[in-house]
Amino acid sequence: IIYFFDFKIILGKNGVPVAENFRLEQSTIADTIQVGQVRVRTLYLSVDPYMRCRMNEDTGSDYLLPWQLSEVADGGGIGVVEESKHDNLAKGDFVTSFNWPWQTVAILDGSLLQKLVPQLVNGRLSYFLGAAGITGLTALLGIREKGHVAAGANQTMVVSGAAGACGSLAGQIGRLEGCSRVVGIAGTDEKCSILVQEMGFDAAINYKKGNVAEQLRELCPGGVDVYFDNVGGDISDTVISQMNQNSHIILCGQISQYNKDVPYPPPLPPDIEKIQKERNITRERFLVLNYMDKQEASVLQLCQWIQEGKLKVRETVIEGLANIGAAFQSMMNGGNIGKQIVSVSK
Ligand code: NAP
Repeated sequence: IIYFFDFKIILGKNGVPVAENFRLEQSTIADTIQVGQVRVRTLYLSVDPYMRCRMNEDTGSDYLLPWQLSEVADGGGIGVVEESKHDNLAKGDFVTSFNWPWQTVAILDGSLLQKLVPQLVNGRLSYFLGAAGITGLTALLGIREKGHVAAGANQTMVVSGAAGACGSLAGQIGRLEGCSRVVGIAGTDEKCSILVQEMGFDAAINYKKGNVAEQLRELCPGGVDVYFDNVGGDISDTVISQMNQNSHIILCGQISQYNKDVPYPPPLPPDIEKIQKERNITRERFLVLNYMDKQEASVLQLCQWIQEGKLKVRETVIEGLANIGAAFQSMMNGGNIGKQIVSVSK
C-alpha cells in the first residue's frame, strides 16, 4: 500500500490543510532490488509544520521542493532494512532519511540513508524523528546559534508553541544551558500543566484564555531576554513588546502564518518593528539545515540528556499509514503534545 498525496480540495496559499488533501492507494513495488539499493519496511513517519509549505507550488524556500499532485508524499521517516544490496547496510539495520516516502514498504538508495543506533535512545526509535532528530537539533542549535544564552546571566526565556515538539525541548534546553527562568505559551490548560509539572518550566500561559500580555508581565517581571519563537503573529508581537534592550529572538518558525500568503519571515507590524529596532533585539532567520556540520555532536548531546533524564520527551502517536493526513491536520491544529508521530508498522 502506498500513500499518495492528492489535492482533492485545491489548496491555495491561503487554505487550511485537511486530511482529505491526501489519498491512500494500493500499488506494487519491484520484486528485485538493484546493487546499492535496499528494501525497507517503514516503522515511523513524521508530520511537520514545514510540510504545509510543500503543499504550495512555490514553497517559499529553495531547500523545500513542492509535493507533486498524485505522487507519493515524503518526509522524515524511520524503517528497518529487510533486504540489502548496499555494502554498508544489512538486513535488520534501522535507518532514517529526511525524504522517506509515505509507503509501508519501499526500495531506496542505500547511500541516502543514515544508520541508527537504537541504544542511544534506550530503544525508543521514534525519538530519532523528534528529540534525537531534527526537532531536538532545532531546539538545541537554535538556542546555541541565536539565543546568546549564558550561564549565570539571570536570563528569562519565553517559548511559544511551548508544548510542541521543538518548544517542549527548547524550554528544557534553555534551562540546561543556563536560563534562570523559563515561561511557555501553549494552547490548552493540559499542555500548560505538563510544561510546569513534567518539563520544569517555571510557568505557562494558555494563549486561548485570558490576557497574554498581562500574564506575561506578571510572570516575567524582569522582562524577556530570549524568545524562542515557534508561532509568530499576535503572540509574538505581545512577547516582543516585553523584551529587554539587547535581547534575542530565536526565529524558529511562524506556524500561525503558514496558511496565509505572506513571505517568510513575515514582517513585523510597524509598531513592533519600531520596538525591535529601538531595543536592538536580534531577529535573524534560523534554519537548522544550515548547521548540519554540528549534527553528530548535537545528537549525542541530546541522547545523553535523554538517558540522564534531563530532557523529558513527549510524543503523540497516531497508528497507521491511512491516518497520516489526519495526523498532519491534527498537529497543525494543536492536537499534539510533544512530537507528532505516525506509527506505520511494528
Ligand atoms: P509542533 O510545535 O509540535 O506542532 C505545531 C503546534 O503549533 C501545535 O501543536 C499548536 O499548539 C501550535 N499552533 C498551531 N497553530 C497555531 C497558532 N495559530 N498560534 C499559535 N500556535 C499554533 O511542531 P514543531 O515540529 O515542533 O514545529 C514548531 C515550529 O518550529 C514550527 O513553526 C516549525 O515550522 C518550526 N521549525 C523550524 C525549524 C528550523 O529549522 N527553523 C525546524 C523545525 C521546525 P497549540 O495548542 O499551542 O496551539
